Amino acid sequence: MNQYISGLVYGALALIANLYFVLPVYGNLSLHLGEFFVIFCLVTRGLSPALMASILGSLGLYITTGNPWFFAVSILEILVLHYLLKKEIVLLVADLLFWLLIGLPITYLVIVFIYEVSTQDFAHVVLLKQALNGILIVSIVSLVRPFAPASWYSKNYTRTTLKLSSRIFEVSLISIALPSLIVALILSDSSADNAEKQISQLLKIKAENHVDSIESHVQHHRDAIDSLALLLVEFQLDETKTRELLEKWNSTYEGFLTMLIADASGSIIHGSPKTAFDKITQLPASERIVTDRSYFYVAKKTEQNFISTAFKGRGFGHAPIVAISSPLLRNGDFKGIVQGSLDLPQFDGSDNKEGRVSYLIVTDSNNSIVYASDGLGLENLSRFEPVDETITFTNTLPVLTLSTGNYLYHFEDSKQGWNIYALADASQLIGFYKQNFYRLMVALFLISILGLVFTRRLSKQITDPLVGIVKSFAAHKVIVQEPNSIYTSKEVESVRYQLREAQQLTLEYQENLKEEVAAKTSELIAMNERLEKMSVEDELTKIYNRRGFEAAANEAFKLACRNRTALTFAMLDIDHFKRVNDTWGHVVGDECIVMVAKELKKVFLRETDFYARYGGEEFVVLLTGGNTDKHCRMLEQLRKDIENHKVAVDGENISLTVSIGVFSLKEDFNISYHQLVSKADKLLYQSKTEGRNRISSDCQ
Ligand code: GH3
Ligand code: MG
Ligand code: MG
Repeated sequence: MNQYISGLVYGALALIANLYFVLPVYGNLSLHLGEFFVIFCLVTRGLSPALMASILGSLGLYITTGNPWFFAVSILEILVLHYLLKKEIVLLVADLLFWLLIGLPITYLVIVFIYEVSTQDFAHVVLLKQALNGILIVSIVSLVRPFAPASWYSKNYTRTTLKLSSRIFEVSLISIALPSLIVALILSDSSADNAEKQISQLLKIKAENHVDSIESHVQHHRDAIDSLALLLVEFQLDETKTRELLEKWNSTYEGFLTMLIADASGSIIHGSPKTAFDKITQLPASERIVTDRSYFYVAKKTEQNFISTAFKGRGFGHAPIVAISSPLLRNGDFKGIVQGSLDLPQFDGSDNKEGRVSYLIVTDSNNSIVYASDGLGLENLSRFEPVDETITFTNTLPVLTLSTGNYLYHFEDSKQGWNIYALADASQLIGFYKQNFYRLMVALFLISILGLVFTRRLSKQITDPLVGIVKSFAAHKVIVQEPNSIYTSKEVESVRYQLREAQQLTLEYQENLKEEVAAKTSELIAMNERLEKMSVEDELTKIYNRRGFEAAANEAFKLACRNRTALTFAMLDIDHFKRVNDTWGHVVGDECIVMVAKELKKVFLRETDFYARYGGEEFVVLLTGGNTDKHCRMLEQLRKDIENHKVAVDGENISLTVSIGVFSLKEDFNISYHQLVSKADKLLYQSKTEGRNRISSDCQ
């Protein structure tokens, strides 16, 4: 839900920016900055909000330009950027890649095939502007992004961690590219304005010159007609002289294609050149009448010099002409007119050259073309009225479109009511813009390459010493005191110093720890050994306790049973021991127990002889090997030794006796250890009941 709200907010901002904040670049071309919010939304909120913002932003562009293709290009840009950012490509580079590989080709196809922009140059300008627009916007996004608080970022959107070199590259490229791009745009905008002003001035001068030359050309011929009329009225020449004078005039003023004199009734009476007039004379009289011609009736009516609009000659020459006429007035009486047909192509002047950049169109007061330069594809006498086009590459000059292309033009009108248009090929100006854009792009490209090389080197120089230090640290190698790179920095050296200190502390600590651990380990081992011994040894007598005996004797018991070797198990109990304790105290009691153990040690010397303090004042013996009779003799020996061993206490001698139960296995070894113990215990009980200090034995 949050995502959709942010998409709507960024989209609304993009829409407003695209509607109201449009930066003009060249002519009608302008930068649309709304896309900033769309891309910012992409890098902070993720794909789906950015797509929403993109659609809203494109709506703004659609409203201002009427171009629906912005939707496609913007959405595609977002998708491609999203993909490339996931691949850990720096935003600026990602956008450059998009425009080079996708944005520009698509825009080109759209403007050439869908909008049918005829001028290739102009198509290039539009393309480059679009690319610049895109790059400018991502530069601004990259510049602003580090300042965005963490709360502006979507929690779902995982930011990729860039390599240091990429980060430096991004920062340096933006800090170089963005200002230079803006400066270049401002400079080239003003230089483009200058170029336009120059062209504009040039066209104005040309148009004015043309007005001058046309006016003087026409005036010259009007004066000629006026002076001829004066001469004819003044001297009243005969027919031959009149014709000679007319022909002389015609040959003197080469601009006149033909000349004629008509009488007061409008009938042609003289004409020049002779060949043309001869043709006229063959025509019926009715066709020699010119009363319907404006040069006749207007001159007659106004009694003044007259210049006609352009028309096609009739009978007396068929070329497109402008007629200049003057009335013949003698004493206020109208005697006819004298007329000259001004040859229109004579206006050509000096601009009729190959590879020209400027052209001329002259129209009369009826907007009929009196003259048009070659190469414009205009017919003389056809109508021409420029319709101003909303063309996208000029700030100040009007532009007209002919079948041959777009032309910048300047208009002046002449005294005769003629319209003079000085034209210049618009590609001049577009060429200029194109050049500027190309320079910008090439400069940007070079800066990027340089930046890439430079930042890679720089980040390597920054990270290498650090990586070296950290590697040494991690591998427990001693960090050297001196830097091994000349490009190290104070910060890195401070890290080296601190890590070195830390490393030394760690090493010392480790050394101490090692010693402590070794000491503790040997202590533990000793303690373990003691514990192990304690668990099997009786503390008082230092012979096996019951647990130790059972662990040791069990194996011997099993082996003897398996091998059917003679085995004897004996159980001893000190007689009337309670009395000893009661009489002499427990300490003396203990001494007596120790004495019995000593006697056991003395009698049973073989490794296979096992004996133990079974509990309290009871002992057990297990003997294997040899024969059971010998076992019994040894036990009898033990009994006697204990009886004879006096324990000295306070000058008195205490004598002890033991009762013994002995059970031997001779033939039948089918018995468990517990059964064996139980048999011996019963025999011990028998010894006790039979009077103590004796051995009761049995066998199976
Ligand atoms: P009996 O001839 O029937 O065996 O008579 P007794 O007095 O020995 O009777 P009993 O076996 O029931 O008593 C054993 C006494 O041994 C009881 C206890 O006070 C004493 N005793 C057991 N363990 C120790 C010991 O570790 N030290 C000392 N001083 N006395 C012990
Ligand atoms: Mg007892
Ligand atoms: Mg006892």
